[in-house]
Amino acid sequence: MTVAAPPADHVRALRSRLTGTALAPGDTGYDEARVAFNLMVQQHPPLIAFPADADDVCQVVRFARERGFRVAPQRTGHNAGPIETLEHTILLRTDALGGVEVDAAARRARVGGGAQWQDVVPVAAESGLSALHGSAADIGIAGYSLGGGVGWQARKHGLQTNSVTAVELVTAAGEHVRADRDNEPELFWALRGGGGNFGVVTALEFDLYPQETVFAGMMFFALEQAPEVFHTWRELLAGVPDELTSTCRILRFPDIPELPDVVRGQNLVVLNGAYLGSEAEGRDLLAPLAALDPGMDTWGMVPAAALTELHMDPPDPVPALTDHMLVDLSAEAFDRMLDVTGPGVDTPLGMVELRHTGGALGRSAPEHGALDRLPGSYLAFAGGMVVDAESAAAVGGALEGWRASLAPYRAGEYLNFVERPTDVAAAYGEGRYERLSRVKAAFDPDEVFRANHPIRPSRG
Ligand SMILES: Cc1cc2nc3c(=O)[nH]c(=O)nc-3n(C[C@H](O)[C@H](O)[C@H](O)COP(=O)(O)OP(=O)(O)OC[C@H]3O[C@@H](n4cnc5c(N)ncnc54)[C@H](O)[C@@H]3O)c2cc1C
Repeated sequence: MTVAAPPADHVRALRSRLTGTALAPGDTGYDEARVAFNLMVQQHPPLIAFPADADDVCQVVRFARERGFRVAPQRTGHNAGPIETLEHTILLRTDALGGVEVDAAARRARVGGGAQWQDVVPVAAESGLSALHGSAADIGIAGYSLGGGVGWQARKHGLQTNSVTAVELVTAAGEHVRADRDNEPELFWALRGGGGNFGVVTALEFDLYPQETVFAGMMFFALEQAPEVFHTWRELLAGVPDELTSTCRILRFPDIPELPDVVRGQNLVVLNGAYLGSEAEGRDLLAPLAALDPGMDTWGMVPAAALTELHMDPPDPVPALTDHMLVDLSAEAFDRMLDVTGPGVDTPLGMVELRHTGGALGRSAPEHGALDRLPGSYLAFAGGMVVDAESAAAVGGALEGWRASLAPYRAGEYLNFVERPTDVAAAYGEGRYERLSRVKAAFDPDEVFRANHPIRPSRG
C-alpha cells in the first residue's frame, strides 16, 4: 500500500513544536516506527509523533485539532489490530514518556505513560513489592491498565485497572489533567477499563503488593494426555483458593531452530501459574496434576519478579491470527473444545489456552472503575502463526471451529484480548457503555482520540 505523504509543511510544522520528533512516510525510521507487535497488522499513518514529554503531547493534540488530524496513542502495538483506520491520524508513539518511581512505604508506583512492565517490576522487587503485570514483560503499562489487566495474581488482587490510583493525561482540549478519586472522578472511573478513548496518558500511579516470592512454574505433558490433564485441572479448580491463578494450554511448537530443544517441534499440554503461599501448600493443591506424571515439572519457589517470564510469550513481533472469549465451562464444554483442538486433531492453532478467572476478578466493588469485573470462569484464547494466504485461511478456519465449540458457553469479551474490531458496547454491557459514552462526550466530543476499541460520544 502506498501512502500519500502529508504536505511537507505538516511534518515541519509539527517537528518545530516538539522537543521530540515527528516522521512522515519516506522519512528514515518511519517504517520501523509504524510496526505493530502483530505483523499481520499494517499501519500507514500520515504522521508519527514521538513526544518527549507531557508538554510535547499537548502540542501534538493542539496541532492535530488545528489541522484536522486525529490522534492514536500507542506504545507497543500489542493491540493495534482493532484500530479502524489511521487515515488523517497522527500515530502518537509514547516510547519516550518513560520514568519509574517506587514509593516503598506507600506501596505505590508512578510510571510514565510509555513505561513497560519490564521497567517497573525489577525496581519494585528491590523493596519486596510486586505489580499486577500480565504474561509478557514488554507490554505497555498504560494500554494494559486502561483496558483491564489480567496477571498471575489476578484471582487474588483483581484487575490491574482497579489498583490504579491516579492517571495524568492530555485531553482533547490539549490540557494536562490529573484524574483520581478527588479530581475528575467520573473521568477516573472511565479511564479504569475504558481504554485510550479519553486522552493520552502521560503518567499512572498504582498500588503494589508485598510479595517477594511465589510458588510458580510449569508442568509439561504429552498432547495425548490433554483430556486427563484438562479434566483434572478443572476438577481441582473447584476447590482452590484465590491465591492460585493458573492456565492450561495446548502448545504446538514449530520445528524451528530459534526454539529450545525441550519444546522444538513438540505438541504439549502446559499447566502453569502462580500460588501466593508456601511451597508445601502449593504442592498439595497441585498434587492431582503432579500425579499425572508430567514429562517436566518446574514448579518451585521463585522471586515474584520472575513471573514476567513464566508464560514464554514471544519477545519479538510475530504474524498471527487470534481470537478470544470469556466462558463458563462445564465438563462437556472441555470435551467440545478438545474435540477440535486436542489429540488426533490436525490443527494450525499453535496455542489453545484457558486462563482460570473468578476470585477477585469476578467480584465487584463500589470503588472500581468502568471495567469492574470479568464475567465467566475462564478466559479462552487461541491463535496460530500466519506466513501466507494459505496459512491465514487455515488458521482462520481453525479459529472458527474453536469459536463454535465454545460459543454455547460464552460469557463475554475482555477487550485487551480482542485483536479485531468488535461490538464494544456489548463488551461493556448495558449502562456501563452509556456512562462511558457520556464521559467521552464531555472530554472528547469531536473524537480526536482514536482508540483501539472505540467508545462513541453520546449525551443521551
Ligand atoms: C503477547 C501478548 C501477551 C499479553 N498478555 C496479557 C496478559 O497477560 N494479561 C492481559 O490482561 N493482557 C495481555 N495482553 C493484552 C494487552 O493487555 C493488550 O494488548 C494491551 O492493549 C497492550 O497495551 P500496549 O500499550 O502494550 O499496546 P498498544 O497496542 O500500544 O496500545 C493498546 C491501546 O491502548 C491505548 N494506549 C496505550 N498507551 C496509551 C497511552 N499512553 N495513553 C492513552 N492510551 C494508550 C490505546 O488505545 C492503544 O490503541 C497480551 C497481549 C499480547 C500480544
